[in-house]
Amino acid sequence: MSDFDFDLFVIGGGSGGVRAARMAAQRGARVALAEVGALGGTCVNVGCIPKKLYSYAAHFAEAFEESHGFGWQGDAPRFDWNVLKANRAKEISRLNGIYENLLTGSGVKVMAGWASLLDAHTVQFVHPGRSERFTAKHILIATGGKPSVPEFPGREYVLTSDAMFDLDPFPKRLLVVGGGYIACEFASIFNGLGSKVTQLYRGEQILRGFDHEVRSFVASEMKKFGVSLRVNSEVKSVVKTAEGLQVTLLDGGNVMVDSILYATGRVPHVAGMGIEQLGIAQDKHGAIKVNDDYQTNIDSIYALGDVTARIQLTPVALGEAMKLVDHLFGDNLRGMSYQFIPTAVFTHPNIGTVGYSEADARTKYGDVTVFKTDFKPLKHTLSGSTERVFMKLIVDTASDRVVGLHMVGSDAGEIVQGFAVAMKAGATKATFDSTIGIHPTAAEEFVTMRTAVS
Ligand code: FAD
Ligand code: NDP
Repeated sequence: MSDFDFDLFVIGGGSGGVRAARMAAQRGARVALAEVGALGGTCVNVGCIPKKLYSYAAHFAEAFEESHGFGWQGDAPRFDWNVLKANRAKEISRLNGIYENLLTGSGVKVMAGWASLLDAHTVQFVHPGRSERFTAKHILIATGGKPSVPEFPGREYVLTSDAMFDLDPFPKRLLVVGGGYIACEFASIFNGLGSKVTQLYRGEQILRGFDHEVRSFVASEMKKFGVSLRVNSEVKSVVKTAEGLQVTLLDGGNVMVDSILYATGRVPHVAGMGIEQLGIAQDKHGAIKVNDDYQTNIDSIYALGDVTARIQLTPVALGEAMKLVDHLFGDNLRGMSYQFIPTAVFTHPNIGTVGYSEADARTKYGDVTVFKTDFKPLKHTLSGSTERVFMKLIVDTASDRVVGLHMVGSDAGEIVQGFAVAMKAGATKATFDSTIGIHPTAAEEFVTMRTAVS
């Protein structure tokens, strides 16, 4: 019998923590999990899931418009923000319950409260009216991240993505600051739901890190749908007036809005956990440093997911959790590759991407061959919409391997997921060319592009 209360104590019940706790318990480990908020963490409560539900809601606006060309007549129904909020809240609380059942059903002891580290094997657990200490052979920090907003006059008037799901009232005029995933997704969503959206980005073009043509294509599609996108633009100050929030820009311009969303990145959730006191190594942003087995510089303490600031995506946190559990309680055969991780941005239209941008591929491989297409999808021949689709393939010329695949268009995430499997398996352009398309789809274009553009 072990001298410890638990084999594994998990701090944080988000994507990574829940998966690690559940898998470890299923392998026979004695596991506890502390969560200070709602089970499921960022993804379930204020991230992927509610965001995607709202993105579906936003798409109906254009669907009603587009249906006229297909013979559907009549005015578009009225959008009720309160109905959407209530239905989302109900679904999220159903998911919270499922998470709880999955954990307790696997034998995990779930504790609702704040956990911090006392030493290499001891956790302090605090719940209103109760404070306890538990020992564990291994401790996992899976505390995720939180939004970060820079300092400026009027900062107290701005919101972060956490507050957007229950906003009251619905903002008729919304300013979104930032050019990353969250800014672009929320600008698209609130624009679709009926807000007049202005998006400010400090650089030349939104979505830094993505392929340059994907960035310019999605920016022009977002503008076509109604987002007023202003690049090379930054906020100087915000003042509350009788007409709304008056935003003064560094270039001297002004915008008057009802709400302001700052989506300027996320920082690791590490404060008040005893991390510095224990001397756990962190990078300059506070992210916990780990080795390939997610072990910190203290042998018994591990960390994974957003708190390590590698790639901040739910499937990455899940993959890391499964590798860790296999390492600690299994046969240690499971790997976790960070190459060819597919991702989608749920803008209107969506972006789906896997592998290298053209610029990064040229740096890595030298000689690359590029194929691309830009077309009006079949649906929009009757819908009246001017939406277009963009697709791009980047091939390492020497090996013929497809090393970058990018799409902007409806359901891009759904389409790119399957191609990611092919690319992980090392598919070459010749394999793509010998694959029969599914007709008529947009996806078939990925296997019929024959003429290199460079
Ligand atoms: P989290 O899910 O953040 O979980 C950490 C948990 O730890 C939290 O529940 C927190 O309350 C708890 N906690 C923190 N400190 C303590 C403590 N001391 N004691 C007890 N509990 C504590 N990713 C995608 O793949 N696809 C998407 O579409 C997507 N959309 C997103 C949209 C938004 C608006 C945001 C913000 C994120 C989105 N993400 C998306 C990213 C994704 O949500 C994260 O990568 C993922 O949730 C990380 O999981 P995690 O387990 O590391 O942390
Ligand atoms: P990102 O890092 O993607 O983007 C942050 C944006 O804010 C960048 O455009 C950045 O500009 C800008 N910015 C940073 N600091 C400032 C500042 N001081 N003033 C003005 N602008 C600033 O972060 P997000 O918050 O959008 O999202 C966090 C992470 O969550 C994402 O990286 C992603 O991993 C994950 N996520 C995933 C989603 C998905 O899978 N669909 C959806 C939502 C989030 P610059 O480019 O110039 O640095």
